[in-house]
Amino acid sequence: MKILIVGGAGYIGSHMSKLLVKSGHEVIVLDNLSTGFRKNVKYGELVVGDLADIGLLENVFSTYQFDAVMHFAANSLVGESIKEPAKYYRNNVANTINLLDVMINHSVKYFIFSSTAATFGNPKYSPIDEHHPQHPINPYGMSKLMVENILKDYASAYDLSSVSLRYFNACGADPEGELGEMHDPETHLIPLVLQVASGRKKEITVFGSDYPTDDGTCIRDYIHVVDLCQAHLLAIEYLIKNKSGAYSFNLGSGHGFSVQEVLDASSLIVKRYNASIFVQYGDKRPGDPDRLVADSILARKILGWKPQYECLETIIEHAWRWELELVKRKKQ
Ligand code: UDP
Repeated sequence: MKILIVGGAGYIGSHMSKLLVKSGHEVIVLDNLSTGFRKNVKYGELVVGDLADIGLLENVFSTYQFDAVMHFAANSLVGESIKEPAKYYRNNVANTINLLDVMINHSVKYFIFSSTAATFGNPKYSPIDEHHPQHPINPYGMSKLMVENILKDYASAYDLSSVSLRYFNACGADPEGELGEMHDPETHLIPLVLQVASGRKKEITVFGSDYPTDDGTCIRDYIHVVDLCQAHLLAIEYLIKNKSGAYSFNLGSGHGFSVQEVLDASSLIVKRYNASIFVQYGDKRPGDPDRLVADSILARKILGWKPQYECLETIIEHAWRWELELVKRKKQ
């Protein structure tokens, strides 16, 4: 298949491109490089461009006959989305409509969409399955839910088949050490903790230690980036083989780990390198639910998804190897 990866210069999109090429598919990356990096595009050709530019999209779709599109290009900072909702609705919603409309013009029928656990809002029960009500509590989550709903209408009106994959906490790095997480600014727990261990950052602040959990810190479902990408590949195969429609699946490992458990596991791993992690305990971050854990039984049953890297230590080890690589590159 020839697949367009929108946002392929970013964290998840770059791992996706690698997996697709290694699985025998052809990849074209479209990225505006606003948060992604040219050097992340190691698999497939890069077209630099923005989804707001419909003329460019028309050209790209005329040049290449795509079989499918995977869409990873979005703004994804919850706090920023509260301060600048227009940015989120314009980029995450309006620009996605541009992409979908050009797909329809060019009869490209298969679409995989990066959605998020943030579409659920505060959990009513745990683990969160696909029946859980979706009431986002910030514009980021709302922008993703809006696209999920648009995709349902587009499936019935225009025969555009789609799978929305709701990520819980994406983390880890390419097991071969070639790619990894590189956000600027970095806000995610695991890369921040490892930046402290490598000396790139002074300390990590735990956001809240009096949550109603065993150790008082928040529980999240950490899912390895390569496992997420495997689910995308299975999702495209599912659409092609089986069905037309708009489907959604929750993607997590189904195991929750507290912030403290992530810190403890990271400390053990970096200790082997004589590194340590300086931790501070601070205030809660607004809008953080105490527990977010996915029920991914549906993805396992329907897509045949089997995560390979569920062990927290493995996830942290891969991320640590990548952090050491970044430190090495900075010194060069
Ligand atoms: N977290 C933390 N300190 C940090 C960054 C994150 O304590 O500097 C906590 C955060 O409150 C949450 C968990 O780590 O409970 C995961 O946060 P992250 O931002 O990685 O992902 P999110 O769950 O917000 O998508």
